[in-house]
Amino acid sequence: MKTILWIASLFTSVVLSKPKPRCRCLYGDSCWPTEEEFAQLQSKLSQPLIRPVLPESACYPESNPSGNCTDVQANTLDGRWRSDQAGSMQSTNFETFIFRNGTIEGCYLNATLGFPCQQGSVPPVGVDARRVEDVQVAVKFAADHDLLLVVRSTGHDYLGRSAAIGAFMIWTHHLKNITANSAFVPDGAPESGTYNTLTLQSGVQWFEAYDAAQENGRTIIGGLSAGGSVGAAGGWISGGGHSAFAPQHGLGIDNAIQITIVTTSGEHLTANSHINSDLFWAVRGGGGGTYSVLTSVTYRTHEITPLTAVIVASNFSLLAVKKDILTEHLKLWPGLSDAGWGSFLVLSNAVAISNTNLTLVLVVPNISWADTNATINPFFDFVRDAQPDTFATTIPFGGFYSCHVGGGKVSEIDPDSAGLNPAWRKAIVHMVVGSGWLSGSTVDQIRAVQQQLKDDLAILESLAPGGGAYFNEASLYEINPLHSLETIMNVWKGSRIRMTPWVFSSLQKE
Ligand SMILES: Cc1cc2nc3c(=O)[nH]c(=O)nc-3n(C[C@H](O)[C@H](O)[C@H](O)COP(=O)(O)OP(=O)(O)OC[C@H]3O[C@@H](n4cnc5c(N)ncnc54)[C@H](O)[C@@H]3O)c2cc1C
Repeated sequence: MKTILWIASLFTSVVLSKPKPRCRCLYGDSCWPTEEEFAQLQSKLSQPLIRPVLPESACYPESNPSGNCTDVQANTLDGRWRSDQAGSMQSTNFETFIFRNGTIEGCYLNATLGFPCQQGSVPPVGVDARRVEDVQVAVKFAADHDLLLVVRSTGHDYLGRSAAIGAFMIWTHHLKNITANSAFVPDGAPESGTYNTLTLQSGVQWFEAYDAAQENGRTIIGGLSAGGSVGAAGGWISGGGHSAFAPQHGLGIDNAIQITIVTTSGEHLTANSHINSDLFWAVRGGGGGTYSVLTSVTYRTHEITPLTAVIVASNFSLLAVKKDILTEHLKLWPGLSDAGWGSFLVLSNAVAISNTNLTLVLVVPNISWADTNATINPFFDFVRDAQPDTFATTIPFGGFYSCHVGGGKVSEIDPDSAGLNPAWRKAIVHMVVGSGWLSGSTVDQIRAVQQQLKDDLAILESLAPGGGAYFNEASLYEINPLHSLETIMNVWKGSRIRMTPWVFSSLQKE
């Protein structure tokens, strides 16, 4: 009873002390800047202002498509192609907007469904930033006119934070400079400590960063996506940044040596553990565009080490066999992550749990092929006993790519060293449950899918009571967001940061 009262009173005090929410100026409001004011903005920019549209709009009107609809249909699932379109989100549900009365505004790829093509949550105007000055000018313009500002790099965000209805956009996608330095000294640091680094401007994507690391004979700790399309120095790092190499080298934020940012006042600052260290702390894990627009991140690079892939794939005769094998696999995790192994395992209710197919991919850096085999062979034996035709093998290879997870080095780093959810420092496995709905679904159908996600989250919560959420892959439906996104809430309370946080993008999607 005491506990319940304590929680209730804490909640009341938070609510009472919260500043009153206010709406920013949106497209269509009378406060929206005039064409003359946009013309003045234009005169200070290196590129023409952009008017983002949903890529699917090329297919409308159905009788006489306005653009190359065939191209859009062919590329719609291609992450790199989507990231090149200013008006595109990787998860197309975030291009739509659901009003409180249930009306859905958006533009479906399938024009034959008979719905109109509308702007949805895609900001109607923005700046194609190609210089730091473009970012500064755009931030000041948004502040002067009290606009809701959205920062977009690739549009891959799982919370839809890089889109918001009626907002003004800064598109960082074309800030593509990459600089290698084998003796980097952070600003304000003693000359004695140097790092082998890659400095990536904030539009660089992982495929470009991996190529640059390879050209320099180094490894960089990065994310996994088909084609390496996730941004390497935008949302990924500001949420924490996980990698198959995290158990060996730490998360993305643990490998960031220095960042440069444009603050809410338009100032361009350098931040590291010697100067502006509070911002450096907050941006690494405190997420998205909450504090600033990142303009570059300098990452420590690592020696290329021998790498072995472990692959297990099967179509199991029975769901029970698959469950046994998954159970056996998860039992291995604590030991494997302490030894630096990484893995990527996504359980979706549509594919992995109810279906008898199973594919496990593990990445084993800097451990010999023989030692890898010695560790994994008992598991292979277990799997083959359960299902004799299972494909199970280990493959040594020289390059690198990336997957994920916690444990190992991630858990050795001081939880207070960055604005990351401290749950990461205790976690071994990061689990994602995904779902989706078809274009043209009604609000009730969408609500049913959302409810299913909430139910799935409750299962995860019961498996790991008190677990945390990874900010970049958290759910809009977290059961207890105050806990699962703990660090972000602490930062909001102003405990670590001298700047007033100013939300650049909106979490509110409906
Ligand atoms: C296919 C896929 C694979 C993924 N794989 C991984 C993975 O292996 N590891 C992992 O950790 N995560 C992974 N993620 C999650 C990923 O980290 C998040 O989606 C992340 O938010 C993407 O950042 P972005 O900059 O590419 O995307 P965006 O959607 O452009 O931006 C995401 C957020 O960051 C903000 N932002 C972007 N650029 C800047 C900037 N320069 N300054 C300030 N704020 C900025 C945006 O406003 C938004 O809030 C994956 C996501 C997808 C879709």
